[in-house]
Amino acid sequence: MKLIAHTFDLPLRHTFTISRESTNVQPTLIVELTDGTHSGYGEATTNAYYGMTLDRMQAALESVRGIVENTSELQPRVLWEELAVALADCPFALCAIDQAAYDLWGKQQGKPVYELWGLNTKEVPHSNFTIGIDSIDVMVEKLEEMPDWPIYKIKLGTEHDLEIIKQLRKHTRATFRVDANCGWTADEAIQNSQELKKLGVEFIEQPLPREDVEGARKVFQESALPVIADESCISEADVAQCKGRFHGINIKLVKCGGLTPARRMIDHARRLNMKVMVGCMTESSVGISAIAQLLPLLDYVDMDGAALLSKDIAAGAAVEDGVCHYPKVPGNGVTLLGNN
Ligand SMILES: [Mg+2]
Repeated sequence: MKLIAHTFDLPLRHTFTISRESTNVQPTLIVELTDGTHSGYGEATTNAYYGMTLDRMQAALESVRGIVENTSELQPRVLWEELAVALADCPFALCAIDQAAYDLWGKQQGKPVYELWGLNTKEVPHSNFTIGIDSIDVMVEKLEEMPDWPIYKIKLGTEHDLEIIKQLRKHTRATFRVDANCGWTADEAIQNSQELKKLGVEFIEQPLPREDVEGARKVFQESALPVIADESCISEADVAQCKGRFHGINIKLVKCGGLTPARRMIDHARRLNMKVMVGCMTESSVGISAIAQLLPLLDYVDMDGAALLSKDIAAGAAVEDGVCHYPKVPGNGVTLLGNN
């Protein structure tokens, strides 16, 4: 088996602005694993918050190239175990390899990965479309630009959060979810939950900072809406800690290290009676197609990443107005498009 690293700049539909800078592209690392007949693909985007640069992720890949290329009979779970210690500091690279391993494994057997897991896609949740923080006018514009999604996830954490939801509610009857990205106190979260419930909000994602454990317990008890952990649930070890603080968890494949640990996190959360969501980054159809394999196991999904791009680098599972369309290609279904 051979490992090939590709890098791309994914062009964004909208300029993405944070306090320090604006950007029009999202750099991403695509791992290709090939047995000479089939190729599998996996993805990890760069991420400043987690210190994940292309250089760092590529160095991590090189550190395990020998182990990966000496694999004779591919078993993604076994390969993951062989790499987990060496890549403990770089779960993003581990995720890209793990996704590629599943995509190749499925292609070698001529079946979709979800089918090899014994799952079917007859009834799977719809994805939300995410609306980032901006002026209320621009947030309304973003909603109206994507009018047919059944669910919108609205980013909050401003001085006028309830006003944002009230204004957006005038333009759609769709379900709302809100993500405060650690921006509230426990009292704000509890108060906001009452109003947000009346405005047709389904749940609140990560209202408090990860450190506010006592606050999370209070919100869990008193919130009018379910609360879902995101920043508080990064890796497998975090799942147990979320019991009694959250009603569910949002798993991101790059943060936990791929599909292999994500499946264990889902099982663990179910045993603890918690809801399960999987979220994405701004990423191509490579990463989104990996998430699609998990859909039958989920309550909620946020897999709009490729819908935020003006041009994709791959074909695979395609999400249109919240509905995931599965490709007729085995594995995760990824085909890398040419001319990039
Ligand atoms: Mg979030």
